[in-house]
Order: sequence, then structure tokens, then C-alpha cells
Amino acid sequence: MATPVKVTVTGAAGQIGYALLFRIASGQLLGPDVPVKLSLLEIPQAVKAAEGTAMELDDCAFPLLSGIEITDDPNVAFNGTSVGLLVGAMPRKAGMERGDLLGANGGIFGPQGKAINDHAADDIRVLVVGNPANTNALIAQQHAPDVPADRFTAMTRLDHNRAISQLAAKLQVPVTEIKHMTIWGNHSATQYPDLFHTEVGGKVAAEQVDQEWLRDTFIPTVAKRGAAIIEARGASSAASAANAAIDHVYDWVNGTEWTSAAIVSDGSYGVPEGLVSSFPVRAAGGRFEIIQGLEIDAFSRERIDASVRELAEERDAVKSLGLI
Ligand code: NDP
Repeated sequence: MATPVKVTVTGAAGQIGYALLFRIASGQLLGPDVPVKLSLLEIPQAVKAAEGTAMELDDCAFPLLSGIEITDDPNVAFNGTSVGLLVGAMPRKAGMERGDLLGANGGIFGPQGKAINDHAADDIRVLVVGNPANTNALIAQQHAPDVPADRFTAMTRLDHNRAISQLAAKLQVPVTEIKHMTIWGNHSATQYPDLFHTEVGGKVAAEQVDQEWLRDTFIPTVAKRGAAIIEARGASSAASAANAAIDHVYDWVNGTEWTSAAIVSDGSYGVPEGLVSSFPVRAAGGRFEIIQGLEIDAFSRERIDASVRELAEERDAVKSLGLI
């Protein structure tokens, strides 16, 4: 059997962790021929709960799962790891100022970035899921100067999948008919799901829906879907978030023609270099690259700029807090 690949999941005892770990262990993250070793990172008070999840993983007798490690030390969790799924984050509590939220997350993602820098395997790939995901990814990346910046990403794949599903329902076509969906910017309410480059049946999606629906229904429905699920379920969208994390890493490793991912900007499409922003990307040879040459009309430009402005403000805030 091939050598197992170490995969580290932070916040492993949480809701998303619970939906994610079993799928990783069953081979859906890296493929059906790749054995995995799981490392579960938790805060000390949640280690016992992570041990419970590990017992269930054992009870599945997954043929691809070669071992499970549970720790509260990032230096142990990231030692030799090839895939880091950074799920655990400080949730926003009622009355919390943005600076407090960013500060608390800086205290989590800074040390994790350093641990990745010092201990991870050379082929490390990081996906940040914990919110504010883009800026948490930026903090981690800035603490890992020896790791190529393109190994740090944040998740907008759930927004991408939600946008595909909303459009497919509107046009009454299977989701497989929707090509070239793109989410731009921040994984937040300012994100911009772009139908001007999306194709359905070989034709531009924006031309197949009325503009009012696009602007007043589609964009806000995608951006606020998480809140709608909390309202309906009484709990957050953990399974679909875990599914999107699996999609993101699987495509990153195995290649895809077109998806959305938040990656470190090289300045493309007017997004300032260094910000972790969502782009249309392809993946080949284990690397994401931004799909170039798309024409951006005034409607899209305004929305991309607004989301990128928010990312720049978050970056400036963490800079002024001394977190990067
Ligand atoms: P979840 O597993 O539900 O969510 C974890 C993170 O993912 C949150 O930041 C959440 O953001 C974010 N997220 C991103 N996309 C989505 C989505 N579509 N739906 C829901 N969440 C999304 O949180 P739990 O509270 O159940 O678990 C968190 C775990 O993390 C706890 O066990 C805690 O102990 C642990 N933790 C571990 C740390 C570490 O390993 N060092 C540090 C901090 C916490 P949002 O808050 O905006 O919903």
C-alpha cells in the first residue's frame, strides 16, 4: 500500500469536523487509492469530544485510514502534514467588535501558520474554512514565510455550489448543465456570484434570467443562504460546508477546468496583490491558477470592488493589531 498522507483537521470536534472526518477517512478527499493518517487538533476542553469522534472513526474500520492522532498542540498536529483543513475558529458573539473577532482569530491562525511553516510536509496545502476565512488564511500565510504563498487558500466553494444549485433550479436544468460559475471576493455578504461568465447550454447565464432576479434574488440568496439554513434547521450548514471543503481539496489535487477558490492575489483583475480573494480558477499539476482574460462589465466591477474593499479593510485591521 502507498505511504499514508497526513491530513490535519482543526476544530475537529465541531459540527463541520463531524461531517468532514468520515468522508476524508473513506477516501473522498484524496481519492480511493490514497491511505490517510488523520490528525485532530482541538482546544484542550474539546479534546475529549474529539476522542469520541475518533472512537466512531475506528468503528467504521475504514480500509484507507491508517491512524488517528488527537492533540491540542499545533506543532504536533501539523508535523509532517500534507493537507491542513483549518476549520476551528473563534465565532462572532453578540456584541463583539470586529477588532475583537479578528484579534481572537489572529491568536489562533498566527500560531497555526507558524506551526505549518516549521513542521508541515513540503507539499502542504491549506484550506481555511473557519471565519472570517479569507483573512484567517491571510494571517496563517503571513506566518509561514517559508511555504509558497499559493499553498494557502480559503473556501468559497460552498458559495460556488450554492450558486450553481440556485441557477439550476431557476432554469430547471440539472446542475451538471451549469459551467464556469464564479464567486469573486470575500466569503461574506459582499461576495459576488457572477452569472456573466457562467454558461448554461453553451449560452451566457445572465442572458437567460431577468436582471431583476439576478440582482435582487440570486445574489442575496446565495450570500445569505447560511443564515436561511440556520433559520430552518436551527443549526448551521455543517454538512454542505464539509462537502465543499472536500470538493475544494479534491479538485486542487486532482485538477479541474473551472471552479472558485480564494487564493493569494497576484494583482489579477485589479485585486491588490497579497489579499486572499476568490477568483475563477483552474487546477492543474496540483496548483490553482487564476483564469485570465475575462471581460468585467460595470455591474460586476462595482460588486467585485466592494468585496475586495472589505478584504483590504480586514487586512488593514489585522495589520494595525500587529497580527501580520
Ligand atoms: P462549526 O464546525 O460549525 O464551524 C467552524 C467554523 O467554520 C466557524 O468559523 C464557521 O464560521 C465556519 N464556517 C464556514 N463556512 C460555514 C458554513 N457554511 N456553515 C457553518 N460554518 C461555517 O463550529 P463548531 O462551533 O461546531 O466547532 C468549532 C470547533 O472548533 C469547536 O470544537 C472548537 O473547540 C474548535 N476550535 C478549535 C481551535 C483549534 O483547533 N485551535 C480554535 C478554535 C476553535 P461561523 O462562526 O461564521 O459560522
